[in-house]
Amino acid sequence: MAIMITTHGRYLTQIEKSTILFPINCYLVREDDGLTLVDTNWTKTADAILAAAGQLGAPIRRIALTHVHGDHVGSLDPLHQALPDADVLVGAREARLLARDFSLDVDEAQTKPRGDYPVITTRPTGVLQPGDMVGSLRVIASPGHTPGHIAFLDTRDGTLIAGDALFTFTGIGVSGMFRMRFPFSSMATWDKATALGAARALTALQPTRLAVGHGPVLEAPVAAMMQVIDAAA
Ligand SMILES: [Zn+2]
Repeated sequence: MAIMITTHGRYLTQIEKSTILFPINCYLVREDDGLTLVDTNWTKTADAILAAAGQLGAPIRRIALTHVHGDHVGSLDPLHQALPDADVLVGAREARLLARDFSLDVDEAQTKPRGDYPVITTRPTGVLQPGDMVGSLRVIASPGHTPGHIAFLDTRDGTLIAGDALFTFTGIGVSGMFRMRFPFSSMATWDKATALGAARALTALQPTRLAVGHGPVLEAPVAAMMQVIDAAA
């Protein structure tokens, strides 16, 4: 399975793994003290991620998760073993899913979370609330794909790391939209209506660059985001 490493702008490096089903991204974000890793890709990607950090010549200080589906936390355990001093940060609501507690709150859509939630032994060193900062990244609530999904906005240059709230593989889409060549977003999405609200909130941030879990990084994405939200509504 091929790995491609691409830097976008000053701070963002995309690590893309091609699999038989779909491509999977995780990201390294450069900070003054080293790197923040956003998501950990699928299993067996830890060595490639560590090699990419080595090429950038900086240590991984923090691991932050958009959500805890298997293709985003797959390499968390080996990375935590290799980087025992790095913080492991997950959204407070999503932390329950990491512990495989699938209970729902009364104010949430009463639908069972969908998709693959593997058994992970690493526990977070901290939990994140909307508005918190992870280095230069602001935590943005974006539930819908999963109940506790979060996105990260780089406050230096407007790059939005949106996890699976949106996808760009087979063309830009909102989490939960069905695509024949990429049915997995639809299959794994907890609540489509909540996801559409999250996509609107992310668009309102006016990001300059959109980096998602599946598909290419888009520059100046706002018009395309608005268009696909209209199509989904
Ligand atoms: Zn997902």
